[in-house]
Amino acid sequence: MWLPFTQMKDYEEAPLIIESGEGIRLRDIHGNEYFDGYSSLWLNVHGHRRPEIDEAVKEQLGRIAHSTLLGAANVPSIQLAEKLIQISPENLTRVFYSDSGAESVEIAIKMAYQYWQNKGRTEKTKFVTLTNGYHGDTVGAISVGSIDIYHRVYSALMFHSFALPFPSAKWHPSGNEQMAKEDSLSEIHDLFEKNHEQISGLIVESMVQGAGGMHIMPVGYLKELEQLCRKFNVLFIVDEVATGFGRTGKMFAVEHEGVLPDIMTMAKGITGGYLPIAATLTTEEVYQAFYGEYTEMKTFFHGHSYTGNQLGCAAALANLDIFEKEGLVEQAAKKAEYVERLMAEINELPHVGEIRQLGLMCGIELVKDKKTKEPFPFEERMAYRATLRMRELGMLTRPLGDTIVFMPPLASSYEELTKMLQIIKQAIVETLNVKVHTK
Ligand code: PLP
Repeated sequence: MWLPFTQMKDYEEAPLIIESGEGIRLRDIHGNEYFDGYSSLWLNVHGHRRPEIDEAVKEQLGRIAHSTLLGAANVPSIQLAEKLIQISPENLTRVFYSDSGAESVEIAIKMAYQYWQNKGRTEKTKFVTLTNGYHGDTVGAISVGSIDIYHRVYSALMFHSFALPFPSAKWHPSGNEQMAKEDSLSEIHDLFEKNHEQISGLIVESMVQGAGGMHIMPVGYLKELEQLCRKFNVLFIVDEVATGFGRTGKMFAVEHEGVLPDIMTMAKGITGGYLPIAATLTTEEVYQAFYGEYTEMKTFFHGHSYTGNQLGCAAALANLDIFEKEGLVEQAAKKAEYVERLMAEINELPHVGEIRQLGLMCGIELVKDKKTKEPFPFEERMAYRATLRMRELGMLTRPLGDTIVFMPPLASSYEELTKMLQIIKQAIVETLNVKVHTK
């Protein structure tokens, strides 16, 4: 095998083969158990082998596993679409399925692009994104992404997008968040003013830049982006692939700011981490621009073989039922407060430069110098080494550069959260040979 996003040399040095899982634990072929500290890459919600979701998939198997959505609907995909419309921002009324977050973004881009083509605004072809943004690994998604180390090698393959500064105190010369926010908004305003006739859409991760290292937008920023898009007639595309389904303490992160996007993407937590379903939601206005006689050539020419898969939709429906029954989003928000309190201790460690958290999305950035925030040399791979130690101590996660990700399943108990954070702390201390003064 050739594993995704993996230097295979690393893998050969420290192979891991998962054999089973139960609750928030994974078990490898040698019988070692690990906490799933990254929700199996930000997907898992209720733990593994949750009986209600298992049953829903089995029940669906008794009817049919898959039939195409091209020119035909199926029962669970209709039920799920109805549910998604109920729980997402009120202006979103249409659901277009796919199988992964990147595809949901490709669809958002093509949908926005063709929307303007269908409306006769053929010059509106460009996209705007934020620096350090990530939207998946397919060519369209990397073209609206902006993480240099992932994207540089493919630059000749990508179409050009405008990348404007993400508002972070860390990267702004003033070191001040408010100024970073104002500058970012004013640059976007100026770009829109000059180029809005060519701009199709602005795409951003909702509230948190995940893969870029868990960077959180300043309060009010997302709302102002929405308003700029409205003012300049640019479609506002919000990527909720990582942030959706309770991760940030709201069902969708747009709720933090009461934002109504024109297009919203979702994947990962949609099936509770069971099966590959993704969706791109949009407004009636966008949908209607594609509606007409076949000969008008307004059709959205996009689809995948497994789009709207019945097993996946059945798992997603069961997943959303549990959310409702257990009031899981509210619970996750409370757990996030608890995690924040425990994180304060980790934040005191000498090589912890910053902890960034919204809900149960957390990043712990390791630095060489706590005061100046000087990073460790890239080749030392400190966070990677710390995560290998965490594995030995019984927890799995993957770092983003020198940022350790902590993104536990929402269903983790308080006790499990405590244990996972103890492992993180111990691994940092041991990997960096930090002397800890206990009170
Ligand atoms: N968009 C965002 C914000 C993501 O964080 C990710 C994955 O981490 C994606 C898109 C891509 O999703 P997938 O890995 O399912 O293609």
